[in-house]
Amino acid sequence: MYKREQTKKVKVGNLVIGGDAPISVQSMANTDTQNVSATVAQIKRMEKEGCELVRVAVPDLDSCSSLPLIKREINIPLVADIHFDYKLALKSLEQGVDGLRINPGNIKNREKLKLIIKSAQEKDIPIRFGINSGSLDSQILKKYKRATPEALVESAQKVITLLEEIDYHKVGFSLKSTSVTDTIEANILFSSKYDYPLHLGITEAGPYFPGVIKSSIGIGILLYRGIGNTIRVSLTDDPVKEVRVGYEILKALNLRQRGPQIISCPTCARCQVDLKEVMQEVEEKLAEVNKTLTIAIMGCMVNGPGEAREADIGVAYHKKTALLFKKGKIIGRFSDQIIIDKLLEEIKNM
Ligand code: SF4
Repeated sequence: MYKREQTKKVKVGNLVIGGDAPISVQSMANTDTQNVSATVAQIKRMEKEGCELVRVAVPDLDSCSSLPLIKREINIPLVADIHFDYKLALKSLEQGVDGLRINPGNIKNREKLKLIIKSAQEKDIPIRFGINSGSLDSQILKKYKRATPEALVESAQKVITLLEEIDYHKVGFSLKSTSVTDTIEANILFSSKYDYPLHLGITEAGPYFPGVIKSSIGIGILLYRGIGNTIRVSLTDDPVKEVRVGYEILKALNLRQRGPQIISCPTCARCQVDLKEVMQEVEEKLAEVNKTLTIAIMGCMVNGPGEAREADIGVAYHKKTALLFKKGKIIGRFSDQIIIDKLLEEIKNM
């Protein structure tokens, strides 16, 4: 694992992004922002999963009016996601959001962009500039022919020139592409030049299965290289799942711990139990458990005792029974009918 790249620190509401702050997990609501109760209900579910910052789309002025009503009801920083119309950014700032997300590819007019930055500066509100392969500045696109990593970085560079002119630096950047490799290269290039905090993600990564794979590879490789300060997994799915996947990525890299880390085998002809069914039950029952534990559940005695002994608590199935291990020691052999209840009981007491 590489040493973490040092970046500036930016505070969004009460959340610190960058510097030595833990890598945060964020997501975006996919409800109609004007429907305050549905949006708040969804954000509450995201909060419960550990979401640390939430973004809502602000496509029109009516949505701006919902922002304070949503903010009042939630416990995490609220960021307004703005495209095309600079007036929506100014209005959102007036409504007291904790942060703005601006797409400089579709608010190209320098004077309008300046107005947004100056207004954020006056109110001391941070901005993330989200550079996206699907909405890159047309001039830059013409120069590079496609949204290459260099094109994404040049788009960010244009904004940085403006920020330096205004002398406002409470900002972060994201450089996202639908191509995993372009995203990785763009972020490596950006972080070799600048020390603004980076929000990582693969844009429009797709439905759950391919989306999880693309996000895990793209975000994972960058984090492993010490790049990235906050992450958002984009899925065409429930945003609660984005948060869950975000933590799994951080847990796999030992960057954050949240809830148990589960180890289970893929099963084979030696497996002594319907492990898929067992895991489903365990995952459901552990959904509310927020303890940092490694739990191994293994199908037979080949690798079972070894993994179960290494974990904080573990089960290795054998014929109609299973051995239960805790902190490296066998604490009992139980029937396969009651072993999961025993396991959960022990976890409760840990
Ligand atoms: S632990 Fe046993 S059941 Fe699981 S994959 Fe290995 S050999 Fe097969």
